[in-house]
Amino acid sequence: MKNYYSILGVTPDSTDLEIKSAYRSLARKFHPDVNPSGAERFKDISEAYETLSDSKKRLQYDTINGFFKSAPKPDYQSSDKAQEEYKKTSDKKEQKNEQKSEEKYEHKSSKNSGTKKQKNDEFSKKINDIFEEFGRQKKPVPKRGADINEEITVTLKEVSEGSQRTVNVLHTCQCPHCKGRKFINGSACRECNGTGEKSEHRKITVKIPKNIKNGAKLRIPNEGNKGENGGKNGDLFIKINFAPSSKIKFEENNIIYNVPITPFEAVLGAKITVPSLDGNFSLKIPPKTCSGQKFRLAGQGLKQNGKQGDMIVIVYIEIPSSLSDDEIRLYEKLKKLSSKNIRENILND
Ligand SMILES: [Zn+2]
Repeated sequence: MKNYYSILGVTPDSTDLEIKSAYRSLARKFHPDVNPSGAERFKDISEAYETLSDSKKRLQYDTINGFFKSAPKPDYQSSDKAQEEYKKTSDKKEQKNEQKSEEKYEHKSSKNSGTKKQKNDEFSKKINDIFEEFGRQKKPVPKRGADINEEITVTLKEVSEGSQRTVNVLHTCQCPHCKGRKFINGSACRECNGTGEKSEHRKITVKIPKNIKNGAKLRIPNEGNKGENGGKNGDLFIKINFAPSSKIKFEENNIIYNVPITPFEAVLGAKITVPSLDGNFSLKIPPKTCSGQKFRLAGQGLKQNGKQGDMIVIVYIEIPSSLSDDEIRLYEKLKKLSSKNIRENILND
């Protein structure tokens, strides 16, 4: 028979609160995450607490093993004295343990490169985990699942036409075996290896609306991480990133768009129609436009971080890949008519 009372350093007279507090202070000293050599001890402590924290189990344990609460003493003073005496010895015990575990903790952490603050944060996180365990054991509080954030890169064709994508999303949920408690009867849960979580990939099909903006976030409700204890699921957010194309680049909020024009549009000027991310737009090309000339379309860029960018169209002259004989003949005629040498002052410009 294991004496659960002596394992927790309490007595059969101890109240639930005293047992809980003894468990907390021992758990923070011997939790394997904190104290690698404390695994065996932690197992005993957890086992003892599991029985003594449950009034039914405790009564059964007391009955079987012959533990009885001492009868209430009429003399309050002597009872106080006894408590004081008990407190003294347990304080001593605690101090001794505290020192030991501190040394070990320091020793372990000196290997880590993190700052002291980080270590303390990690430490308190572990302690919080232990405390949360109490909460879960007592009354499960519904907890909303965490949101998941993903990003996808879409082509400009997808943006101008709309499309559908299947996204592989990693979901993490509470381990159904240990209910996130990580330990079962003091040993690490076998189902989740003591992490308290389970992960799975899920394929989710997302509709990408036509003309969506760069940096926009799609919200897919309920597709985030699973809620716990009947809590709602989180949401899935998918951030849209435009893939640059050979013609379109993004510079902060500005869209840089390289647009081809024909030689005659360049010479004579024209009103051209340009396909864009959100429908067509028209652009007036003045006569005698050269390659590399820039046209700024104010407010036609991307809206990000509350700022509206511009679209900068850079035109370049492109020769159509197929030219008819008639066209070639006309170019021949132009060649004969042209007298100006455009390279004459090239080095003086
Ligand atoms: Zn588990």
